Amino acid sequence: MSADHSEELAALVGRRSGAPQVAPDAVNLAMIRHWVEAMGDENPVYLSEEAATDAGFGGIVAPPTMLQAWIMRGLKASLEAESRRAEPETTAGSDNDRMMALLDDEGRTSVVATNCDQHYVRPLRLGERLVTTSTIEDITAEKKTGLGEGRFVTTRIDFVSLPDLGEHASVSEEVVAAGEPVATMRFRILKYRPGTAKGAEVRDGDGGPARPRRPRPALTQDNAFFFEGTRAGKLLIQRCVSCHTLRHPPLPACAVCGSLDWDTVQASGRGELYSFVVVHYPKVPSFDYPLPIGLVALEEGTRLVADLAIDPAELRIGMPVEAELVSFDDELTLPVFHGLPAERDEGG
Ligand SMILES: [Zn+2]
Repeated sequence: MSADHSEELAALVGRRSGAPQVAPDAVNLAMIRHWVEAMGDENPVYLSEEAATDAGFGGIVAPPTMLQAWIMRGLKASLEAESRRAEPETTAGSDNDRMMALLDDEGRTSVVATNCDQHYVRPLRLGERLVTTSTIEDITAEKKTGLGEGRFVTTRIDFVSLPDLGEHASVSEEVVAAGEPVATMRFRILKYRPGTAKGAEVRDGDGGPARPRRPRPALTQDNAFFFEGTRAGKLLIQRCVSCHTLRHPPLPACAVCGSLDWDTVQASGRGELYSFVVVHYPKVPSFDYPLPIGLVALEEGTRLVADLAIDPAELRIGMPVEAELVSFDDELTLPVFHGLPAERDEGG
């Protein structure tokens, strides 16, 4: 059994995750411009002084949802922080580091971000400099989830505005306390034990060791037919009812004529290898490595990504391949492509 650090974890609730973080840049027009272009947000109050004034803001404001962008560190700073954490004898780690180490020691080495809530006090104006403090707000008891057994951790990040910060790269808690609160963000993660999801393990037919099941596809009303088809032994391709154009991956509408009406046709399963990769790393326990994955051009004209049951040394772009529908467990059947002998002259 893994350790249980419930008491030590409870003692960390309410503690700071680490030192206050100072925004590298004041709220500025260049970053706002890049953001709204990337997001396709055309609200003029983010770029036009006149529109923002007319709207009653007294000048340009930053998009509220851009909040986190102001305090994000660049890659270099993130890598430096990571290497500091890796050196055991240097500075004592933050409470966040201690919390993560305790959760890891409980066997909860996998992590997934689950949700993020933001609360805005007022719009941010050009020239404001933000500082954040982070507090470990909640660590739950163990929960059983679809991913595995884990604890949810909520971190609260409080944003304050400090207009007179100057060039300071770090500030004390006392200085932060004098700032004006402008927003709060709650960020929740699940730290869980890999391989503990309900029904996560399948045994090899020969009684071999248990291994995690293959990841499930994200089913939608557009793509469910494909996986229902493979379970029924058919490799299906979506077809536009209006113009008969085939499409894959599945989409709600035809890219050629815009029709929302579609049906399917059954593919022969034959095609040729359009491209491929051979994955060596990272190794996911559900798969065998090296793992060849192909982009197959079906003879009907669409392409799909699938496993290749072909020795990586034999892989050649353009080689003829044929699908076999393989059941990996009681829910999941997928096409796996084998190599076919090159077209022979049958005339003899
Ligand atoms: Zn169409």
